[in-house]
Amino acid sequence: MKAQLTKMFLAAYGRAPEILAGAPGRIEFIGNHTDYNGGPVLGAAIDRGVWVALAGRADGQRRFTSDQRDGIVTLAPGDQAKREGSENWVNYPLGVLHALPVFGLRAPSGFDYLATSNLPAGAGLSSSAAIELASALVFAEAAGERPLRETLVKIGKHAENNFVGVPCGILDQGVSGFGEKNRLVFIDCRGPQFATVPLSTGAHFWIFNTHTKHALVDGLYAERHGECMAAAKALGVELLVDTNLAALEAAKPKLKPAVYRRAKHVLEEMARVEAAQNALAQDDLAAVGRLLTASHRSSQHGFENSTDELDFLVDALVTMPGVFGARLTGGGFGGAVMAMTGADFGDAQAQIIAEAYGKKFGTRPDILHALTGDGARLL
Ligand code: ADP
Ligand code: MG
Repeated sequence: MKAQLTKMFLAAYGRAPEILAGAPGRIEFIGNHTDYNGGPVLGAAIDRGVWVALAGRADGQRRFTSDQRDGIVTLAPGDQAKREGSENWVNYPLGVLHALPVFGLRAPSGFDYLATSNLPAGAGLSSSAAIELASALVFAEAAGERPLRETLVKIGKHAENNFVGVPCGILDQGVSGFGEKNRLVFIDCRGPQFATVPLSTGAHFWIFNTHTKHALVDGLYAERHGECMAAAKALGVELLVDTNLAALEAAKPKLKPAVYRRAKHVLEEMARVEAAQNALAQDDLAAVGRLLTASHRSSQHGFENSTDELDFLVDALVTMPGVFGARLTGGGFGGAVMAMTGADFGDAQAQIIAEAYGKKFGTRPDILHALTGDGARLL
């Protein structure tokens, strides 16, 4: 990647880059809607991501280009304005520049910047966190700073929440920052605290992106959030992580049926994340896979954030040899399903699934095969 990135930078700016960095995309492995309830989540950094190259400029100009966009965006010294229209991708690195001083770090003044990626953008794999973390690394290095991983993660999240204006949780940046090949990232979302757990090298990921999105997804998300908070309040706690299933059962008569089902899903999902950690420690992929599928069933019937398309994919996948388990990944109400498989599940099997899906729904899902990959790093 180093040579390719250098070549691209030379072609764009006619000189060599000084600093290179990369950061991966991620999969939500298990832990569905646990984050804002203060619970745990497991994510996987994948072997695809965003790479950034940078060289300083003495004149204070900041120039940005990406292989996914036309042309170069030039910002005059002191121009802090958010970019609109086709230039709005620059808000990701620009948001990072804004966030650096918030965390007590210097930001570079003038530079030429180039981003390239082998991660589909907008596919739920968090190319946004990847570009934020790779940008944070090159900017910090250019300014002579060496932030901790925790700080990099916070900078990325701050940029996305406050500058770009997307209210994402900690999973995206946490996994892109702390990912490691052959490991999963465990996040205790309340801290937040980060750890990694080993994942057998035999585990493969297949992601089937339906490109469907429920028309009311934002409203439904807010409704689920509200139901979880209502359950916590009725149980006398701040967040659902502070209670347990026994307390929920005791309070069931005074809860609306839907609120009870949402809280049950979240509490059981928290337990599944813990169980998955234990099964991973035993290298028991079959047990981990059963937890993934159980997570999906709970989404389907309890949290009711699945769709016919996602259910179809999970139902088809779990009957295939080589599939340990499958579940919707991300917020739900459309989007993607991920399956964890052995090496014996391959493209031929994935195509069978896509074809069956196409027959039923009239379009084929995008298929992506990934392994775990390393977290954000300077190259
Ligand atoms: P996701 O994070 O799931 O990929 P988002 O909508 O959160 O989807 O982020 C995608 C956005 O991130 C893109 O629309 C673009 O603005 C920005 N982005 C990601 N990768 C790149 C890249 N390599 N070059 C330019 N912009 C990028
Ligand atoms: Mg994103």
